[in-house]
Amino acid sequence: MQKNNYMEVSFPSLSVNEALARVCVAAFCLQLNPSIDEINDIKTAVSEAVTNCVVHAYPKVNCGQINLRCERQGQMVVITISDNGVGIRDIEKAREPFFTTKPCEERSGMGFAVMESFMDRVEVEKNNDKGVKVTLYKRISSLQEQVKNA
Ligand code: ATP
Ligand code: MG
Repeated sequence: MQKNNYMEVSFPSLSVNEALARVCVAAFCLQLNPSIDEINDIKTAVSEAVTNCVVHAYPKVNCGQINLRCERQGQMVVITISDNGVGIRDIEKAREPFFTTKPCEERSGMGFAVMESFMDRVEVEKNNDKGVKVTLYKRISSLQEQVKNA
């Protein structure tokens, strides 16, 4: 039985760090022996969440901090992406497909919908009264399950 494990990393909200976040999470997940599909699903969802921090969280100051935490709970990976930015006034509305506050910048309002479709569960909440905290859950199939389903 593997021990639970975690990783925490922080970086500025620069678009170049979307790739960094994807690679960090993918590297952390390797200990669970994920399939290529599972790792791609996770990377896609992480990309959307980090992009949201880059695009929406810090409109005035232009740049702020993004915190990324990955945790292993058995075969479950729990990934938290949080910022200390402007936050979301109506979280339920923001999660609706095609809802965006930036239609003029050709945003399609599909980020949360994409996260939901690729992960087992997505939670969006206030981050300690300031900013947004997104928690992504994905169960990674065990090697035995992968062999059985091959
Ligand atoms: P797309 O992801 O398709 O490019 P989008 O980013 O507008 O478009 P979503 O990712 O679904 O769509 O997000 C919906 C809305 O939620 C955003 O338009 C924005 O108003 C708000 N939002 C999302 N993440 C944050 C954040 N970290 N800080 C502030 N607002 C956010
Ligand atoms: Mg988005």
